[in-house]
Amino acid sequence: MIIKRFKAENFRNIEKCDIEFSPGVNLLYGKNAQGKTNAIEGIYLFSRGKSFRAREDSELVKFGTDGFRISVEYEDRSGDGSLEYALFGKERLRKKNGYKINKITEMIGSFKCVLFYPDDLGLVKDGPEERRSFLNVAASACYPSYMKYYSDYKKALENRNCILKMIQKGLYIDRRELDSWSESMAEYASHIYLFRQDYIKRLQRYTKVVMLDISGGKEELYISLDSDIDDEITDRQRVRMEYERILSESLDREIAAGVSLYGPHRDDIEIKINGNSARSFASQGQQRSIVLSLKLAEGEVIKETTGEYPVFLFDDVLSELDEGRREYVLSGKNDRQIIITSCEPDICLGYTDREIDVSGGKYVSSHR
Ligand code: ATP
Ligand code: MG
Repeated sequence: MIIKRFKAENFRNIEKCDIEFSPGVNLLYGKNAQGKTNAIEGIYLFSRGKSFRAREDSELVKFGTDGFRISVEYEDRSGDGSLEYALFGKERLRKKNGYKINKITEMIGSFKCVLFYPDDLGLVKDGPEERRSFLNVAASACYPSYMKYYSDYKKALENRNCILKMIQKGLYIDRRELDSWSESMAEYASHIYLFRQDYIKRLQRYTKVVMLDISGGKEELYISLDSDIDDEITDRQRVRMEYERILSESLDREIAAGVSLYGPHRDDIEIKINGNSARSFASQGQQRSIVLSLKLAEGEVIKETTGEYPVFLFDDVLSELDEGRREYVLSGKNDRQIIITSCEPDICLGYTDREIDVSGGKYVSSHR
């Protein structure tokens, strides 16, 4: 799919803009603090349902104004489409093809992007939370029911944790209530586990190839899901029973800790490079290659699922990559649309189809 246009009003530092995009490589360039990432943030909001960097939507409203409106026009296999999102005070408005929609999932399901931004470079070395968050965002783009199971799981987990804490403090609690939350947790966990396992296996096929390509065949990347369940178990009822067993066997330790110690909220992605743990041994350059491989592979899995590539948004990360890797990303542009931001106008090695000069929340476009 491609994005054809992004419009915004009173969004971040943008008073009003109407940016057209080309298929292929689009570069947003300009000095620091001009509005490059703001445009990426607005576009990505339609794919994720929320900003990737604001805690609250109200932060997105241009200072001194009372609301914002943003929209995208895109084209996918089924034709042209548009999405609009506005916030005025507490009032939210979402529209698809001009008609009001209530569910955020209708918006997210329509427009798919893969975002790569500087914080992602911590995916390899940072804690498991970053990798779980990557997994949640990536898997929910491929399995429409993933997020529902995940939020149900989180509710059950919170309730179970609350009860464990009360037992730990010696406050009387009905054990049947604890058992019932454990059962719910095991049920939702089994769905999440199988989605994650399936997703990681699909992702692995592509990350491996991309990493071999960009390292000239020298580096073999292997990713796997690090969870409580033996990956031989693929039947959902068996996975559920396995979680029930783990939760009941670890109950004493969990009461002592006052918190649930097992389940998908503790999962991690294990990343190995040439057989060694990437978290402990990957060099800076290898970390970049790994994250780049994960992001490009994320796009491949979306293509496998939906039949077309998502829009790739590369916010300020191209300058972190050497020329060979940049060339690798940009030369695949024939069937991928890429939007890149950078302070350097010649970052794209002549591959740009459209260049957009960004200054003070204004966007001036020129074709190559
Ligand atoms: P860099 O190259 O440093 O990453 P950038 O061009 O990506 O810069 P943006 O992150 O897009 O910069 O931010 C541009 C400007 O938007 C900043 O000066 C910031 O203070 C401003 N800004 C952020 N939120 C708001 C808001 N709600 N209202 C007005 N201005 C805002
Ligand atoms: Mg920026």
